[in-house]
Amino acid sequence: MKMGLVTYAPEKVEGFDLHVYYSKWADGSVFPAAKNMQNDVTCFCDAKAIREDPSLVAISKNGPALRKNRKINVPFDYVCPTNPKYRARVFEYIKELDRENIQGVTLNLYHFPDEEFCVCPRCVELWRQSGLNWTEWRAQTITNFLKEAKSLVHGTFAVEMFPDPVIAKERFGIDFESIAPLVEYFHVPLSSRDYFTNYWVDLLTRDFLKILKKPVVVELSAEMLTAEKADALLKTVAYLSRHDLMGVLLLVHDSENAKQVCRFAVNNGAFREWLKKFEFTEMTRIVDEWAKGS
Ligand SMILES: [Zn+2]
Repeated sequence: MKMGLVTYAPEKVEGFDLHVYYSKWADGSVFPAAKNMQNDVTCFCDAKAIREDPSLVAISKNGPALRKNRKINVPFDYVCPTNPKYRARVFEYIKELDRENIQGVTLNLYHFPDEEFCVCPRCVELWRQSGLNWTEWRAQTITNFLKEAKSLVHGTFAVEMFPDPVIAKERFGIDFESIAPLVEYFHVPLSSRDYFTNYWVDLLTRDFLKILKKPVVVELSAEMLTAEKADALLKTVAYLSRHDLMGVLLLVHDSENAKQVCRFAVNNGAFREWLKKFEFTEMTRIVDEWAKGS
């Protein structure tokens, strides 16, 4: 199992084999490509673009897909995925990234905000013309967006997803079956402030491994560490290392944050004993590697 990072800083860290850099954020911030790294692009969540042009927002009978709209529960502000001008902007940015020496592109938030979106006049017209039912039309819209994006990427192409293994197609238009042939791997974010309770990480990982027909990497949050949180996080990674994952990614602020996780594992004798006692051979190998580098 590979260990990797998802980071806000364009710097690689020794001891990790996968490096994902957040190059376009949900708040609308956009950064230059991070060389030799997987560049993560937030597609249809863009608070800045919606502030500048409110007509971009996805809409439903319960109002717009904005965080401030309490009739719905969305974590970000969403652009309508069929807006041609905004799609062109995202494709242009992906082309810019692809001109640099990057490892590849991971797309994030490339889907509808939820089941009742989007009913703007353009979406309703496109749906009617398609002759498909609502769920199929929305899934086809998202898959076609991904196909077009993939055609612009020469390196590794991967996608994140809202981590719902059961009704992602109905809610978001994410059709794992039709997306699988397009991607090299799926990136499943299982973010949390801590992993003191972690059965759900194991549960969702097993579910995704069962349904996704491509390799899987799971992302866990490591950016607000205390000693107790680091211990719970590393034990959760250890349990994940018993599954057939391509890798585990740790979300960190920067390289110092990543090294902090390694140091904690290497210097924590009780944790390393625990790994040996319960025969976590793969995780023991990973921590031994970190120890050599420190
Ligand atoms: Zn729309």
